[in-house]
Amino acid sequence: MAVLPIIITGDPVLHTPASPVTAFDSELTTLVNDMIETMEEAPGVGLAAPQVGVGLRIFVYDWTDDDDTHWHGVAINPELWQSSTPVLDSDDADEEGCLSIPGERYPLARADRVILRAFDLQQQPFEIEASGWLARIFQHEYDHLDGVLYADRLQAPDAKAAAKAIRKQGWGQPGLSWLPTEEQLDA
Ligand code: ZN
Repeated sequence: MAVLPIIITGDPVLHTPASPVTAFDSELTTLVNDMIETMEEAPGVGLAAPQVGVGLRIFVYDWTDDDDTHWHGVAINPELWQSSTPVLDSDDADEEGCLSIPGERYPLARADRVILRAFDLQQQPFEIEASGWLARIFQHEYDHLDGVLYADRLQAPDAKAAAKAIRKQGWGQPGLSWLPTEEQLDA
């Protein structure tokens, strides 16, 4: 297993629709295990393959909800149905972040309920009905597979603030990434 560099906004791989997975082989298993390790190290609650520079329709997720249910796994070639219209609470509980725009958070309205249908590493189909934060995670990661970042969905004035923050960091251009381990940063 290996921790992979996380691609920062501006690289074409993050802004291009990803391709379906066609080979459920050992290479795919290695990629998914590396994505899980990278997500844990970051740390993050989800990570999509384009974020590690791979243009395939795969995401991993790891979330413990208020009822202490631990949701974690991989979604390959997912489909997503939104079962409600996007809502935004007035508090800051809806602030979303992204490992490809590290350190920034902005409020974004998302559907409160979704149905995820996808395949696991054994090519077995599964279905999850999600609500709340898990629904948000699925929508965020699914967007990555269509080349959409949450910053692309922000409304004014947050859209302007995000664009400014990205410019200020020198992001928004190809080839930038960060490695989520101190060990490797020191090397
Ligand atoms: Zn993201």
